[in-house]
Amino acid sequence: MVAASLHTSSPVIPDARLTDSHGRVIHDLRVSITDRCNYKCVYCRTGEAGAQYPELAIEEYLRLIRLFVGLGITKVRLTGGEPLLRRGLPDLLRELAAMRTLWGEPLDLAVTTNGHLLDSLAEPLKAAGLNRITVSMDAVDAATFERITRIPGSFTAVLGGIRAARRAGLTPLKVNCVLLRGFNDDQIEGFAHFARQEDVVVRFIEFMPLEEGRLWTPQIVVPMREIVERITRVLPLLELPPREASETARRYGFADGRGEIGIIAPVTQAFCGACSRLRLTSDGKIRTCLFSQVEHDLYGRMRNGAGDEELREYIFQTVQQKEARHHIGEPGFLKPSRSMVHIGG
Ligand code: SAM
Repeated sequence: MVAASLHTSSPVIPDARLTDSHGRVIHDLRVSITDRCNYKCVYCRTGEAGAQYPELAIEEYLRLIRLFVGLGITKVRLTGGEPLLRRGLPDLLRELAAMRTLWGEPLDLAVTTNGHLLDSLAEPLKAAGLNRITVSMDAVDAATFERITRIPGSFTAVLGGIRAARRAGLTPLKVNCVLLRGFNDDQIEGFAHFARQEDVVVRFIEFMPLEEGRLWTPQIVVPMREIVERITRVLPLLELPPREASETARRYGFADGRGEIGIIAPVTQAFCGACSRLRLTSDGKIRTCLFSQVEHDLYGRMRNGAGDEELREYIFQTVQQKEARHHIGEPGFLKPSRSMVHIGG
């Protein structure tokens, strides 16, 4: 029905919700605005290559995002690469903050960053209209952190960025930590204390086979159950109810009521059945799953002169091809052609 309405001169969207062929409502768009990164995290990058894909102009991202919002997207997360490297980020946020969803509401605007440049950017980003920020941080011990990022001084910079984000009111502040056995799994308990000391929600993420190199094995993944057991031994946890069906993190509160952690377990507790996400790469391709084997060249069509209705129709048709689920750990699993940093995490 939505597709049919897109052929009319003034589209009327009957059930204004973008739904895929598996009945999942798609309302969450992640947009990579650069695949450059100023960190070389050992589990993500080989450390040799910078940008591999072109970036679009800020106005081009805006035009594409507007199309998605016109189809029912309500949440936009800007990511990368490292989005804070992208000149024009505050302008992009200002324009996004002025957009309205199909229901007349402001967009839910978030950014995922490594936090290295956040100390000076937190205030301007908040002023531009950013609602929330997620900072990636894989160790609470400075030496371990710098070994992972391969950037001297990174721990001090990121801690300063987290504190600046809190001062700027970019709350609730989330800190995401990817755990790898033998690299940083000794940080789990330290992160539980860090969550309380710094008043942040720490979310542990299971490592997925999306690295540039060949590091992933099932054994390197630190499963959700182990994380909960280990934290509970030092600080008892209580599971909290999900706030929405598509929430990726299982939430746990500390039993004394002070602080919260989350666990995102795409490997051991896949949540594909509730996936509400689409991704747009820095060069304007739609990815319907992190593990898609195909990309859909939205920007190519725009560059070739397609009008908004044709592009919306293309998005709608692309969404119908969204995969039912990923196949991590199954025989015949194929890594996608792009790694996480080039898809947009
Ligand atoms: N530079 C930004 C940052 O550091 O948050 C945004 C891009 S980064 C690719 C987004 C997130 O993906 C980071 O939290 C990073 O730790 C995570 N990530 C990278 N490779 C991953 C993998 N193979 N499995 C799970 N998470 C991964």
